[in-house]
Amino acid sequence: MDIKNSKRPYIIAGPCSAETETQVLKTAKLLSENGVNVFRAGIWKPRTRPGNFEGVGSKGLKWLKRVKEETGMQVTTEVANTKHVYEALKAGIDILWIGARTSANPFAVQEIADTLTGMDIPVMIKNPVNADIDLWIGAVERFQKAGITNIAAIHRGFSTYTKSKYRNEPMWQIPVELRRRMKDLPIICDPSHISGRRDLLQSVSQKAMDLNYEGLMIETHIDPDNALSDAKQQITPESLKILINHLIIRHRKSTDADIPESLETMEELRTKIDEYDNIIFEYLNKRMDVAKNIGIVKKKSNITILQTDRWNEIMENAVKKGKELGLSAKFVNKFFQAIHQESIQQQTEIYNRLSKEQ
Ligand code: PEP
Ligand code: MN
Repeated sequence: MDIKNSKRPYIIAGPCSAETETQVLKTAKLLSENGVNVFRAGIWKPRTRPGNFEGVGSKGLKWLKRVKEETGMQVTTEVANTKHVYEALKAGIDILWIGARTSANPFAVQEIADTLTGMDIPVMIKNPVNADIDLWIGAVERFQKAGITNIAAIHRGFSTYTKSKYRNEPMWQIPVELRRRMKDLPIICDPSHISGRRDLLQSVSQKAMDLNYEGLMIETHIDPDNALSDAKQQITPESLKILINHLIIRHRKSTDADIPESLETMEELRTKIDEYDNIIFEYLNKRMDVAKNIGIVKKKSNITILQTDRWNEIMENAVKKGKELGLSAKFVNKFFQAIHQESIQQQTEIYNRLSKEQ
């Protein structure tokens, strides 16, 4: 895995799961003709609930060995425990990857890192399912401490309680922050698990390129609709070729010599601003929903909309909190006045509506 000296984007592709020897070899042949760097296939599959296809197990390793011999591509598979590591190494797997459920568990990560001590095999570490950057960095550090030098991070999005168009929220500010804190660590985007559906793959991949990611890991299957796992997000090798050809690859760094390398790029900084604005909106919306419910309760208990004592209490607390965070009282006042006005407006609409219904 020589990401630094390879053409960008470094491409890792292959099926979510190895299903049959023919499926694996056919997919691999087509991908190697497309210039894919590394062939991926899951052999042991972590599934959210039991009873789903849990992978073909160790016999799939022989198929990956054949891919290596017949196409020359490097091969990678997910390992989640010591037994997986031993079997993968014995079968000559070139690169190991740690899945999102495993990297969320420091015991499991440490067990794998201990098993690998003294063996300098490349390891790719997916972000943990929960949005905790320190847990992700911690996993990287455990492998570094075990003497692994060739490490890459894979950004595959984060589980959230509220559902959006993504299967796993990208939360781009987290990998951008990872880049700031570990600037030599290559980052690969996995648009397949972020998107969960084919029509988002192009835009998510483009975003990753605009944020200077080194590579992409994209699930590819000869017959995606009939895949035994993650059918909705897999694409054919032909579609992968089209996706890659449509990517716009911009300069990695500003050509302006006055801008120091250590600074984050405009694109990275704007991504953080956009993400934080999204979070502000999400919470403003939640807050407004609660205010509306309060409006209903006030109306039913026949009290006035404006409750001065409560409002003074909120304002006092906000100014105090703002001061702790270095925000001026003037700004906090203006901001909360605006929120309060909007809440009163929305509660008034509720009063009017409920009065009409009576
Ligand atoms: C996978 O790559 O097929 C996989 C199981 O990924 P994740 O660990 O990101 O869910
Ligand atoms: Mn998958």
